Amino acid sequence: MELSKRAQGIEPSVTLAASAKAKALKAAGKDVLSLTVGEPDFPTPKNIQEAAKRAIENGTASYYTATPGIPALRQAVVDSIQTNYGLTYTPSQTIVTNGAKFALYLLFQVLLNEGDEVIIPTPYWVSYSEQVKLAGGVPVFVEALEENDYKVTVPQLEQVRSKKTKAILLNSPSNPTGMIYTKDELQAIGDWAVAHQLMIVADDIYGQLVYGEAVFTPMATISEAIRKQTIIINGVSKTYAMTGWRIGFAVGEQTVIQAMIDLASQASSNPAAVSQYAALEALTGPQDSVETMRQAFEERMEKVYVWLKDIPGLTVRKPQGAFYLFPNVRETMAICGYHDVDDFVEALLEEANVAVVTGKGFGAPDNIRLSYATDLATLEEAVKRIKNFVEKKQQK
Ligand code: PMP
Ligand code: GLU
Repeated sequence: MELSKRAQGIEPSVTLAASAKAKALKAAGKDVLSLTVGEPDFPTPKNIQEAAKRAIENGTASYYTATPGIPALRQAVVDSIQTNYGLTYTPSQTIVTNGAKFALYLLFQVLLNEGDEVIIPTPYWVSYSEQVKLAGGVPVFVEALEENDYKVTVPQLEQVRSKKTKAILLNSPSNPTGMIYTKDELQAIGDWAVAHQLMIVADDIYGQLVYGEAVFTPMATISEAIRKQTIIINGVSKTYAMTGWRIGFAVGEQTVIQAMIDLASQASSNPAAVSQYAALEALTGPQDSVETMRQAFEERMEKVYVWLKDIPGLTVRKPQGAFYLFPNVRETMAICGYHDVDDFVEALLEEANVAVVTGKGFGAPDNIRLSYATDLATLEEAVKRIKNFVEKKQQK
């Protein structure tokens, strides 16, 4: 059976593929350490688990809910934006989705006509480009340079803007680089987007995972004009260790949100009811576990960042948020005799038993991504193995 051109043109997610491969090798008895997927290793906090159990036991989780989510959860989303961003939205300006991933998918579907362009700064999270393509759009990449802390500037954006540009995507704190745009940088980009009537897709999913002196400024808070053109994407996966529950949301202009709801009503209906009750507890219940997990991520990052720098040839920016390190391994690869990051990553897996993600899927073929959302002992051993691998190859 010949598949559609649409299906044939899609790259599967490299993050999920790398994670699946590591899991399969582990299941087959291989001693593989996986720094692949961006998923907190902590269990979902107890109060959230209990709320889900109650929703199952009292029967409320048995039924379809409204497509955009139960009213209490939409209200909780709006309240959390009020608390964290100081911005007022109505519940009708929100949709709860099957993960932030599906919020983005719906958004591109309702926003883009064939050939419309979306500017995506590279390195970028692997799904943006494919989702834009699935909606008939064209991803237009702008290289955020390592020497500019992997952030793009207005002159760079202006260079790629065309009549077809419909939106710009910003992910701060960034997956994979961990970088955060400052308020001034956001102001410049936001004003530029407003001047050219571009929609701003602000993927704020790592907004509560911020370290050291860094401050997360949400794009939508910069000015009223910017807020009006911004769709906020967020979710509970990363902040509350709830990746498996699959709850994300979008917040913004009502006509866009309503179109997303209409599309979801035909594509998926509501996200799982039990997960919505869990997410409601996450957003409205005690928040102390968020800070406990954030501190654990920060402690790990501080250590791994230092260990990594001992690896010959490797350069790495210190992350300000999220839970990834994104070292440039161009020199390291040269030292070891590799010219292609995919080969290097494959060799790390085969010979050093460490799984990382190739930078290629993020539009950065000189880099690898390591997730530090795993325990310190694993991280320490994994970095040791990578270092030994490089040093051995270097001697040859
Ligand atoms: N945006 C970014 C930048 C991410 O890293 C992820 C991770 N999966 C998502 C969105 C989607 O998360 P989820 O679908 O689990 O809410
Ligand atoms: N966002 C996470 C990551 O980058 C989860 C996997 C995915 O959905 O890509 O690893």
